[in-house]
Amino acid sequence: MNISTSCIHGPEDKNLKNGGLVTPIFTSSAWDYRQESPTPYPRYFNTPNHNQLADKLARLEKAEAGLVLSSGMAAITTILFGLLQKGDHAVFQGDLYGGTTDAVMHELEKFGINYSFAKGHEISDFEKCLKPETRLIYFESPSNPLLNCVDIKGLVKLARSKKLLTVIDNTFASPVNQNPVAMGVDVVMHSATKYLGGHSDLCAGAILTSKGIMERLHTTAIHFGGSPDAQACYLLDRSIKTLFLRVQQQNQNAMALAQYLEGLKMVKKVYYPGLPSHPHHAIASTQMAGYGGMLSFELEGDLEGFLNQLEIISPAISLGGVESTICSPALTSHARISAAERHAAGIRDNLLRLSVGIEDIEDLKKDIEGAIRI
Ligand SMILES: *Cc1c(COP(=O)(O)O)cnc(C)c1O
Repeated sequence: MNISTSCIHGPEDKNLKNGGLVTPIFTSSAWDYRQESPTPYPRYFNTPNHNQLADKLARLEKAEAGLVLSSGMAAITTILFGLLQKGDHAVFQGDLYGGTTDAVMHELEKFGINYSFAKGHEISDFEKCLKPETRLIYFESPSNPLLNCVDIKGLVKLARSKKLLTVIDNTFASPVNQNPVAMGVDVVMHSATKYLGGHSDLCAGAILTSKGIMERLHTTAIHFGGSPDAQACYLLDRSIKTLFLRVQQQNQNAMALAQYLEGLKMVKKVYYPGLPSHPHHAIASTQMAGYGGMLSFELEGDLEGFLNQLEIISPAISLGGVESTICSPALTSHARISAAERHAAGIRDNLLRLSVGIEDIEDLKKDIEGAIRI
């Protein structure tokens, strides 16, 4: 099946008894232990809603096994604590999602796990961080907010030559635009709160990997207890039915807006992997089916005035919804790091990050044009 079909026709647990086409919401936390083995229990991630959704997501990411969790961070911490042990060392990309960086810096050392952050996005930047105790490389492509991309196959090659595991946060790309398992990555995670959910109304996470690795991670996940409830599973499954359509439209809109913004006098720089001017355009073109719905740009003049004048695009954190949202990384996601560190990472104070929705492209252009003129 192609991905557009798999989004809709997963391994549904249809309401066979009554003939309904949609998986019912199984709210039971108590199940008859004489019927099914293992007996379903919500925190074991094995209710019918969990199983059906995990199988669907595994198919979308071309992985053997899937696990759906209560948030993206639940997925990330389950992966790190499931795969790393006392005395191990892990290498992380320098510009990860802020919550991931915080978790690495505040949680790993107290369990005797050491880490390094790579200083750039070349394979050699990761290679320089390797030690004899290194077990894992964790990265994000495209990353937030400058949409930096890593050569996935190149990094997998390095990791395999040293017998290291690779983990990617594939949230920004979504399974529609990038399938890292097919490129040899061992573990893929998503904040399903973003594109998979797509309507800014749920919080969930996902892990997609091999059966062998999933056995270890499933046990850790049960210990940490970050399982999603049946309502969230239902809503996520329903949302994924339109994932392909939504992301196609977001890819198109973001490309058109990136080109439009590049032509505006008040816009100094646009960061979008689909533009030939982006430093990682070439590698993005080889590994992504579409360039995604996220872009950033530097705007001259009064940022606050611009944001206040927008009528369609909403200033908001989070991303990946059907509605276009915009935020200033310096004031939101990257507010806690110093201005000097932000500037060193290439994040200027006048940078705006746009999560492009599925609205009409001409309306989005008019919204920006009207707000810039004011
Ligand atoms: C939001 C986000 C996360 C964390 O996900 P939550 O669902 O908020 O826990 C991780 N990675 C990326 C890239 C994100 O955008």
